[in-house]
Amino acid sequence: MAAKLAKPSAERSSIMRAVKSRNTRPEKVVRSFLHARGCRFRLCDTGLPGKPDIVLRARRSVVFVHGCFWHGHDCKRGARVPKTNRAYWSEKIARNVARDALNIVSLKKLGWRVAIVWECQTQDAVTLDRVLKIVIARQRP
Ligand SMILES: [Zn+2]
Repeated sequence: MAAKLAKPSAERSSIMRAVKSRNTRPEKVVRSFLHARGCRFRLCDTGLPGKPDIVLRARRSVVFVHGCFWHGHDCKRGARVPKTNRAYWSEKIARNVARDALNIVSLKKLGWRVAIVWECQTQDAVTLDRVLKIVIARQRP
């Protein structure tokens, strides 16, 4: 039988919350990147599934800037699970991944184009260009 998952310490929880906070450096990088390419967007909550980080209404496109750890990216950073309470974090991240997938499906059904930028992809412009191409290229209606 599986052992009951221990809750992380208060200290660890607050570190993780800080990691998750909005308006992070990767988000800012993506915003200035889009802005420099003539994309106009809003940041506030629009009631869309998953609360996308950036909403380009005129292009009917949204961008999620995902932290590699929180959203389970298949990269070095994403694989780094805290040493204590591994099971707890793994389960939490698995839930995030499942929720992300559902949100993307819902958004697409509503006619939105969805781009995902991983935190580790915000380091270089070539990668950002490739990832955001579908948003930047989309013609305004
Ligand atoms: Zn990553």
